[in-house]
Amino acid sequence: MINIPSNNTKKSKKYIFDYNFNELEEKIVENGYEKFRTTQVIQWIVNRNVSTFDEMHNLPEQFRTFLSSEFKITALKSNAKQSTDDTSTTKILFSLEDGENIETVQMKYDPDSDSEKSSHRTTICISTQAGCAMQCIFCATGLQGLKRNLSTSEIIGQVLHFSKTRKITNVVFMGMGEPLANYDNTIKSIKWLTEKNGFNLRQRGITVSTVGLVDKIKQLAQEKLQIGLTISLHSPNNELRKVLVPTSVKTTIEELIDTGKKYQEATGRRVTFAYALLEGINDHEDHALELALKLKHTATHVNLIPYNPISAEKLKRPSMNKINRFAKILKDHGVNTTVRYERGTEISAACGQLNTSNLNRQENII
Ligand code: SF4
Repeated sequence: MINIPSNNTKKSKKYIFDYNFNELEEKIVENGYEKFRTTQVIQWIVNRNVSTFDEMHNLPEQFRTFLSSEFKITALKSNAKQSTDDTSTTKILFSLEDGENIETVQMKYDPDSDSEKSSHRTTICISTQAGCAMQCIFCATGLQGLKRNLSTSEIIGQVLHFSKTRKITNVVFMGMGEPLANYDNTIKSIKWLTEKNGFNLRQRGITVSTVGLVDKIKQLAQEKLQIGLTISLHSPNNELRKVLVPTSVKTTIEELIDTGKKYQEATGRRVTFAYALLEGINDHEDHALELALKLKHTATHVNLIPYNPISAEKLKRPSMNKINRFAKILKDHGVNTTVRYERGTEISAACGQLNTSNLNRQENII
C-alpha cells in the first residue's frame, strides 16, 4: 500500500501537531526560546483547551507572537453533530480545509454508582483517511472511495475536540479509512497521544484496527508499542473474504492469523479478530465452525459485530438467535468471543454513515 501525501492547502503556517515533540522543541529552541516552553505550549492546548496562542497568558508576549506567526492549532471545523437520546454516543462530521469530510465518534461509559467495577471510560473512535480505498462491501466509507490521507494534526484534532468537554481514556483507530495505509501519520499520532508531554494516555488504551495489511502489521509489531490490534476477518475462508473485502485478494486468512499471532508474541498484547455478521452471507453455523477450527489454538479473541444497516444497501443484520448461535459455536471450541453491538445505531454510528447521510442531504438540497 502506497502512503499518499497529506494535503494541507495553506502552507505558510504549519499545524503544531504536524511536528513531533522533538521537532517542535528544536524549532522553538532555534528561534531563541527555552526548551521547556514546548511543554508549556502543548499543555495549554491539551490540558487547558485553548484554541489560540494569545490565551496562553503565562507565556511572554514575544513568544506568543512567534507562536502565532509560525503555527496553527487545529484544522477541523465541526459541521454536523448527532447524539443518542441518552447522549452516551455522539458523532461529529468535521470538515477539513480542502472541503473533505471526516467522522469521529465519542462513546461515554458513565459511572454506575451501584457497582464497584463502574467504568469511567470515554472512548473516541477516530478517522485516519478521508474516505477509504479498501472497498469493504458493507461499509459506507468504502463506498465513497479514498480521497486522501489525514495529516497528524487532522487526526489529533479529532481527539482535541472531544477532550475539551470530557477526559478521554481510550482512543480507537476504527473510524474512516485504513490506519495502516496512512502508517507514518498514524504512528506519529499515537506518539502524541501517549507522550508524557502530550496527551499522556496509556498505550494500552489505544487500539489500531486494520483490514489486514500484513507488511504494516509486521512493522507495527516492531514499534515497541503496547497498543492493541484488531484485524478484520469478516469471513472464515478466502473465497468469501475476497467478495466482502475485494482489495484483500493478495492476503490469505491463514497469513492474517499467523501475522496476528506474531504480533501477540512480539508485543504481549492479545489480538482481536473482528467479524461483521451479515445475514445470509457469513452468519451460517458452518462459517462459525470453520472459523472456530482456524482460531481455536491461537489465544486470540473474536469480536462479532452484527451489521449496522446502511439504508441504500440490501445487506441486513442477522437475527439475535443466529448471532447467539454463531458466538456459542466459537465459544464451545474454546475461542474467546464477544458480541459488540454498534453503539448509537440510531445515529448512524457505523463508519462513514454520517458523512453519507450528510452528502445525501446536500444532494437533496441541490
Ligand atoms: S470497513 Fe474500514 S477498511 Fe473497510 S472500507 Fe470501511 S473504513 Fe475502509
